[in-house]
Amino acid sequence: MTTPLHCRTFIDNEFRTGTETFDRRNPATGDVVAIADRADAQTVDAAVSAARRAFGGWGTTSVFERGALLRELARTALDRLEDLATSMTLEMGKPLGEARGEVRKFAQAMRFYAEEAERIGGETIPNESTDYLSVVRKEPVGPVAAITPWNYPVELVGWKLGGALGAGCTMVVKPSEYTPGAAHILAECIRDAGFPPGVVNVVHGGGEVGALLAGHPRIAKIAFTGSNATGQELFRTVSGVTQLTMELGGSCPMLVSRHADLDLAAAGAVRRSFRNAGQICIAINRIYVEREVVGDFTDRVAELTRALTVDDGLANPDADVGPVTMEEIRDRTAAHVADARERGGRVVAGGEPHPAGGLFLQPTVVVDAPHEARIMTEETFGPAVGITPVDSLDEAVEHANAVPGGLAAYLFTEDLGETMGVSAALDFGNVAVNNVDAGIINAPYGGRRESGFGSEHGRAGLEGYLQLKHVRIRHTH
Ligand code: ADP
Repeated sequence: MTTPLHCRTFIDNEFRTGTETFDRRNPATGDVVAIADRADAQTVDAAVSAARRAFGGWGTTSVFERGALLRELARTALDRLEDLATSMTLEMGKPLGEARGEVRKFAQAMRFYAEEAERIGGETIPNESTDYLSVVRKEPVGPVAAITPWNYPVELVGWKLGGALGAGCTMVVKPSEYTPGAAHILAECIRDAGFPPGVVNVVHGGGEVGALLAGHPRIAKIAFTGSNATGQELFRTVSGVTQLTMELGGSCPMLVSRHADLDLAAAGAVRRSFRNAGQICIAINRIYVEREVVGDFTDRVAELTRALTVDDGLANPDADVGPVTMEEIRDRTAAHVADARERGGRVVAGGEPHPAGGLFLQPTVVVDAPHEARIMTEETFGPAVGITPVDSLDEAVEHANAVPGGLAAYLFTEDLGETMGVSAALDFGNVAVNNVDAGIINAPYGGRRESGFGSEHGRAGLEGYLQLKHVRIRHTH
C-alpha cells in the first residue's frame, strides 16, 4: 500500500496546509491514496486575489515569454510523467499505460499553446477619413477559473491552462474531488517551470468549493467540464456577467453503413465504447447499423469485447479496462443493461458481474434494445453499449439527432456521398468518419445543444480567453 499523497492548496507558488481534509480511495483496492485540504471561502478568496494580482504583470508579458514558460511546463510535466500517471491510476482507475499517454498529451497541448500564443495578432481597419486608423487589439479577459472532472484529470486541466496562460490570463484551478493528486503534482510542475507567483493557483474540494469559485465576483471567465446537471447548476451560480464555457458530454452515437469496412468499424466501436471504462464524454453509447450488416458487425464487436483485459491498471499497466471510478457509475451501468434486457435487448458480451467484484465491470454489449431504452438515450458513462439495426442511414441520423446533447458522433462508411451527406446532417460539434478519435489538439472541440457551448483545443481554445479592444487613432500625415 502506498503512502497517501497530501494534496495542498497552491497559492502564489506556495503550498498551504488547511484545517479540514477529505480522502480519496483507490477504486481498485479501496485504500486511501490521497488526502486533500478542503478550501474554505477565505482560501478561495485568497486564490482569486493572487490570480488577480498576478494578472497585472502576466497579462502584459511578451507572448514569447509566455510561450517559453508553457514549453518549460511541458518539460517539467514530462519529468514527472510516472508520478502523474500513477496518481491518476490510483485515484480513478485508468490503466497506467493510458494514464502515461494522457501526460504526453498534456505536454503536447502546452507546446501547441506556446506556439499559438506567439501568433496572437489583431487587425487594422480603415476609417472614412484617412486621418484615422482603427486598431483592434486582442487582450486577455482577466483571471479565470477552471472547474474540471475526474475522467481526464491532467488533460482537461491542460487544455484550459494552455489556452488561458497563452492568452495572458491567470487561473484558479478547482480539480475534481476524486482526483486531487494529479492536480497537486501539476501544481509542483508549474512551480518548477518558473511561472511568476499567482499565475496558477489550485484549490481542492467538491461542488461547494466549485460554487464558491464560480460565484466569486472577481473571476472573469469560468471554463467548466463536467456533467449536464452540474453545468445547469453552475449556470445559475455564476456571478454577474462572468463569461462561461461548458463542455457537458452527451450520449454519443455511431452510425455504421452497409458500405463500411466492418473490421475497422468494430475495432473503432470497441475502442471508443470501452476506453477509460466508457467514462469519456465522447464515448460511444449507442450504435445504429444498417440491417443487412448488423449481424456481421455485432459478431465482430462481441468477439473483440470478450477479448478485452479488465484488471487493476497499476498491477497491469497494459490492461484495456480498469475499475470504474465510483459506485454511482457501476450502479447506473447495471441499471442501463437491466433496463435494455427488460425491454427485449440481448446481451452478446459481458452482462455478468466481473469475478474481481468491487468496481470492476465486464464490458457489455446489448443488441436490439428498443430506441427508447435508457442505453440508447442516456449517457451511461460506463462500460456498456447498445447496438440497434436501422433500415437506412437517414433513419440512423434521425435517432442520432433525437437526444438533447450534441458533442460527438461517429460514422463508418467507404462511400463518399454518405460521408458528406451524413456528416452534414449530424447535429454534433464533432463528427469522426472511419475513426473514433474526434479530438485532436489543433482542431476545435466543443458541443452543441445540451452538450454545452464554447470550444477548447485549436486556435478557438485560445481565442476564448481573449477579448477585443478597438483603439481608434486620429493622426496627422
Ligand atoms: P463529473 O461527474 O463528470 O466529474 P461533475 O459535474 O459532478 O461531473 O463535476 C465536475 C466538476 O464540477 C468537479 O470539479 C466538481 O467538484 C465540480 N462541481 C460540482 N458541483 C458544482 C457546483 N454546484 N458548482 C461548481 N462546481 C461544481
